[in-house]
Amino acid sequence: MTSILIAEDEQRIASFVEKGLRAAGFTTVIASTGPDALGFALSGSFDLVLLDIGLPGLDGFAVLHAIRERDAALPVIMLTARTSVADTVAGLSEGANDYVPKPFKFDELLARVRLRLREAGPRAEQTLDAGEVSLDLLTRRASVAGRSIDLSAREFALLEEFLRHPDQVLSREQLLSRVWGIDFDPGSNVVDVYVRYLREKLGASHIETVRGMGYRLR
Ligand code: CA
Repeated sequence: MTSILIAEDEQRIASFVEKGLRAAGFTTVIASTGPDALGFALSGSFDLVLLDIGLPGLDGFAVLHAIRERDAALPVIMLTARTSVADTVAGLSEGANDYVPKPFKFDELLARVRLRLREAGPRAEQTLDAGEVSLDLLTRRASVAGRSIDLSAREFALLEEFLRHPDQVLSREQLLSRVWGIDFDPGSNVVDVYVRYLREKLGASHIETVRGMGYRLR
């Protein structure tokens, strides 16, 4: 999972950003003071920091400066209501990777986050491929033969499970447990329903039914 630190003391903005990032598949932690933000940022548990400039205790520029003394590579995007050129230049010359003035549209912020994560370089595992089917785990994009397809979060998780087990037959029980976290028989055909959704989006030939056993990605 990609983890993002949200250093923001305005609770309304922090929750709004957190909600959006979680829906986009990231894990998040909120820090509401400068010293907390610095502690989290240097913990090594985060892939990117969203850093408000006006933070209590230690402002965003001081936090950024302290981060850069210890970690040159951690992507940092500054958030601020101050939109003057001088602040932008100060932030970028201190080693911020990007700068987003408030107020912003969430989609714009998300696009910046994804871009900066991508630039930050190859993570251990970013894409899963099998034949024509490809999943980008970072950007949450799926494609078939280069054509991008829209998947819901659950469809994405199901396809990811298939791609992690190429050529293996996965039973309904295994899929229920790994994708839905359900370890009992709920007496529903939810797996079959979602396999059908995936077939409609990927093309039916990509997922094979193995009678009496389950499904296999081809
Ligand atoms: Ca603030």
